[in-house]
Amino acid sequence: MLNILRIPVLQDNYIWLVNEPISGATAVIDPALAEPVLEAAQIHGWHITHILNTHWHPDHVGGNAAIKAATGCHIIGPLAEHDKITAIDETVIDGDIVELGKVTARVIDVPGHTAGHNAYYFADNCALFCGDTLFAMGCGRLFEGTATEMWQSLAKLSSLPDDTQVYCAHEYTLSNGKFALHVDGGNQALIERMAEVVAKRVSNIATIPTTMALERATNPFLLAKNVDEFAARRIAKDSFKG
Ligand code: ZN
Ligand code: FE
Repeated sequence: MLNILRIPVLQDNYIWLVNEPISGATAVIDPALAEPVLEAAQIHGWHITHILNTHWHPDHVGGNAAIKAATGCHIIGPLAEHDKITAIDETVIDGDIVELGKVTARVIDVPGHTAGHNAYYFADNCALFCGDTLFAMGCGRLFEGTATEMWQSLAKLSSLPDDTQVYCAHEYTLSNGKFALHVDGGNQALIERMAEVVAKRVSNIATIPTTMALERATNPFLLAKNVDEFAARRIAKDSFKG
């Protein structure tokens, strides 16, 4: 129903290219860069019609202007960050529906990493694009938001169905998993997952997308008992040296 392509760029970023094959509509999620995205679209014969930005950080919007100049695409991003998002055309808020050809995504407001951070949820396709909010076994750093905001944002995301495919914006899985084992070493699902992750990363295989079921079972930030434990874990992670 959707073709979803992973484009690894920079140190550990993933740009996602999402093609709706019936209409041909194609969205780029969080283009850090333009060139690899334009190349990938050309190889697949896809014409980029949209950019969806989750937040304003340069490694998520850096390709906006050049992709728009090359394709004429329409750029959508969070209202609260519109003044920081290059070449933005349309702003969205929580609950808004974004159309991509024959499919739609719901905007979910998930502040914490930045003040206006959005996620895009394609419910019929079980696909969540969550930028730097939820990572495999981790979550985004609190640059602009509070621990309480991030805790509430993660709660919104973790209420999505088990089979939701989670497309986050970074390959942080190995270092996140080391921290997860440090705080939750008795978690059998986590131990098994980490064995798989280590094997994949040795061969430079991507660990993303993950699933909501797997995150609920192994992510120490979702498994925190309450907001205080979440906040303590987030602080501990910031200085953790695996
Ligand atoms: Zn970021
Ligand atoms: Fe990022």
